[in-house]
Amino acid sequence: MKEYGHFIGGKQVAGTSGRLGDVYTPMTGEISARVALASAEEVGAAVANSAQAQREWGAVNPQRRARIMMKFLQLVLDNQKDLAELLAREHGKTVPDAMGDIQRGYEVVEFACGIPHLLKGEFTDGAGPGIDAYSMRQPLGVTAGITPFNFPAMIPMWKFAPSIACGNSFVLKPSERDPGVPMRLAELMIEAGLPAGVLNVVNGDKVAVDALLDHPEVKAIGFVGSTPIAEYIYARGAANGKRVHAFGGAKNHMVIMPDADMDKTVDALIGAGYGSAGQRCMAISVAVPVGKAAADALMEKLVPRVEALKIGLSTDAGADYGPVITQAAVDRVHQYCDIGIKEGADLVVDGRGFKMQGYEKGFYVGSCLFDNVTKDMRIYKEEIFGPVLAVVRAKTYEEGLALCNDHEYGNGTAIFTRDGDAARDFVSRVQVGMVGVNVPIPTPLAYYSFGGWKRSAFGDLNQHGPDSVRFYTKTKTVTARWPSGVKEGAEFSMPTM
Ligand code: NAD
Repeated sequence: MKEYGHFIGGKQVAGTSGRLGDVYTPMTGEISARVALASAEEVGAAVANSAQAQREWGAVNPQRRARIMMKFLQLVLDNQKDLAELLAREHGKTVPDAMGDIQRGYEVVEFACGIPHLLKGEFTDGAGPGIDAYSMRQPLGVTAGITPFNFPAMIPMWKFAPSIACGNSFVLKPSERDPGVPMRLAELMIEAGLPAGVLNVVNGDKVAVDALLDHPEVKAIGFVGSTPIAEYIYARGAANGKRVHAFGGAKNHMVIMPDADMDKTVDALIGAGYGSAGQRCMAISVAVPVGKAAADALMEKLVPRVEALKIGLSTDAGADYGPVITQAAVDRVHQYCDIGIKEGADLVVDGRGFKMQGYEKGFYVGSCLFDNVTKDMRIYKEEIFGPVLAVVRAKTYEEGLALCNDHEYGNGTAIFTRDGDAARDFVSRVQVGMVGVNVPIPTPLAYYSFGGWKRSAFGDLNQHGPDSVRFYTKTKTVTARWPSGVKEGAEFSMPTM
């Protein structure tokens, strides 16, 4: 059986903790590999190696760093199909969806290729008599990233590409559920010319995460995962004096106005709700039709579409979605369906009995659709993270907007309408970090930044885009005067001008 160790100092190394986790192939339910779970000592060794590598890397000029990113980008493109195949096998999403996971990651590598421009500081000529003032952005040192199972290519690249381009070294702790692609990306970085140790990967669980959170040499931590862990990472990392941004869970609402084009809305909703088996932090999990006519029209078109969704193997390019990540995830989704029924919601499409013929041990979940969900129900308040869509009927636009604003999560949202005034009002007043207008999954492009509000994110500064350069650098501001300026002799008062 395949065994994943760690990737330290430019090569694969075996784990020494004696602890291992199972990596599954969700489409068959079989264990495909074991992954080493690092001890605190192994994490310490990876950080020490990264710290040493960073000293030289931070002094490499930004153009040379960018060229390595360009080479890496090309290698990811050359290997995209193989990476997507591996990703689909370990995660469960379909191969075409895995291609997108990789693409949204390398778009941030493209952004990082512009690092010479992005790192330029500010300069004021003649800020005072003979005085110039300027600021520059310098790397932090060793930085670390802790990433979730659901985007094993995209999120690691979102983290390490800007950080490394800024001159830091990076220790990645990917999800222990699907470590194959992150390990491969580290190999490709070395092949692209990155010096050994600038990107290290330690596999592991809470033990490895806590070791990173407590290590004094780690200066910044970027996290993506569920909200309780995000909050924990933020609190412990910040208490240890680190820079931390931690992105958490979501419950993304789509507000559907009575004037929306219902065919297009249903197309958008079904892909956003059930794609990747609903395991996306930007998935739509709540549909909010406004008014009875819109709700009835929506349900009339939506129900047959949900019933007809094609669930398939991860390798079946014609499948709408594949299995979820683990049997525990299957059980959790089924439990939420039971809870929803008990709470009084109508399970109008019930996928709980779904079995994939010939793959009965695979982690498949049939599509589920709840109608008449209300805001006090657990299936509305909590993140299910599966192919389950809840329809909450709002009487008015204000009620729909209030649902978005009152929810504890504020990651993404969308409004579907033909009314520019309603869309504009929604964009302005909604308390959510990423907003779509007739766009169901408004994931910002690489040169903007990604981040939710409320309990979907902790800490300052978003991921990728200009915020990532701010997050992974510290600003130094210099006030300089050359000898001609000191001719007048000593000064004892604060200068005024
Ligand atoms: P998770 O929180 O279980 O795990 C994320 C990471 O934290 C993993 O690397 C894991 O090993 C580590 N971890 C888990 N438990 C820990 C603990 N007790 N102490 C320390 N570290 C721990 O999340 P997941 O199941 O891998 O991913 C799904 C979640 O991620 C969903 O809630 C989803 O909404 C969220 N997510 C958010 C975004 C975003 O940008 N906001 C993006 C993708 C996923």
